[in-house]
Amino acid sequence: MKKFSHIYIEKEVLDNPITQGILEKFPNSKRIIIDRYSEVFNRSNQNYIVQKKKQNLILAKKRYDFIYEGSELCEDFGHINFYHTSNVFNCIYDCDYCYLQGMYPSGHLVIFVNIEDYFKEVDKLTQHKNAYLSISYETDLLALEYVTGFTKKWIEYTKGNKNLVIEIRTKSANFSSVESLEIPYNVIFAWTLLPQPVIEKYEKLTPPLTKRIESIKKAILKNLKIRISIEPIMYIENFEEVYKDFVKYIFSNIPKEGIRDINIGAFRMIKEQAKRIERLKEYSPIFCYDTIVKNEVFTYKNAEELEKFVYCEVIQYIEKEKVYLLNKLP
Ligand code: SF4
Repeated sequence: MKKFSHIYIEKEVLDNPITQGILEKFPNSKRIIIDRYSEVFNRSNQNYIVQKKKQNLILAKKRYDFIYEGSELCEDFGHINFYHTSNVFNCIYDCDYCYLQGMYPSGHLVIFVNIEDYFKEVDKLTQHKNAYLSISYETDLLALEYVTGFTKKWIEYTKGNKNLVIEIRTKSANFSSVESLEIPYNVIFAWTLLPQPVIEKYEKLTPPLTKRIESIKKAILKNLKIRISIEPIMYIENFEEVYKDFVKYIFSNIPKEGIRDINIGAFRMIKEQAKRIERLKEYSPIFCYDTIVKNEVFTYKNAEELEKFVYCEVIQYIEKEKVYLLNKLP
């Protein structure tokens, strides 16, 4: 259980049952009542790195901008109406390649407790059309389930909205927190998997590969078809050997019948995001290998080659039709 030395609470959400439920879990945290989360979160001259190491929690109300158009840098899995949303700003993990670094002025965690308002916005969005909504791109919602219970609420909401498909992306090993629920067909669990040496180098604080695979197996035992996301492919010494062994390990531990699809994409981010990270962490390992800026996107010089290598490994084990590659092969 993560600890927070301070919890800031917007006055307006103090009586919200979700606020109260969260506060009960952290009886020893100092509570500070505020008017708006921005007073704390948007203060100038904050140190993101220090705050990330000693994250505090802010409980707030989201008042506008509930849903965003999906980014072109993200796989849309063939969905035309692709969106993302976030009940939480920032993440408990600390991946070196994460574009959230420096995106906000603060490293503290903000939880927007008015989840019902998100559902109302999704109701409006899906009134006359289908939508594919990623609910966990900008945080790891399942990793925070013990704090928020939001994954459960999204699953229950989605059960009643036939025009909606949601994707819950995670690096956590926390499927057991929702295992007892009835999970409808329009909820997709997606695990981000990378080789263990890459996890150790770039994904500080996340569960090891073996633990994520255990979680995936539990989901498959519930007859779910899960998504595997091999992205961002990060470069590492002995790249070919490491990724070859990794792909073999996945398929010797997960039955391919339990896999809905797999997406593959090399490390990439908007140029401005990379600049922000460089200002924060000049010696970040993401700058250790040959990179380029191409069409305003910062990526590896040989990104397509790396993707192609992993793709060729993956299709030795599973049908090509189930594999989505970010840079399509000619
Ligand atoms: S799990 Fe995702 S959101 Fe969290 S730090 Fe890593 S990349 Fe960022």
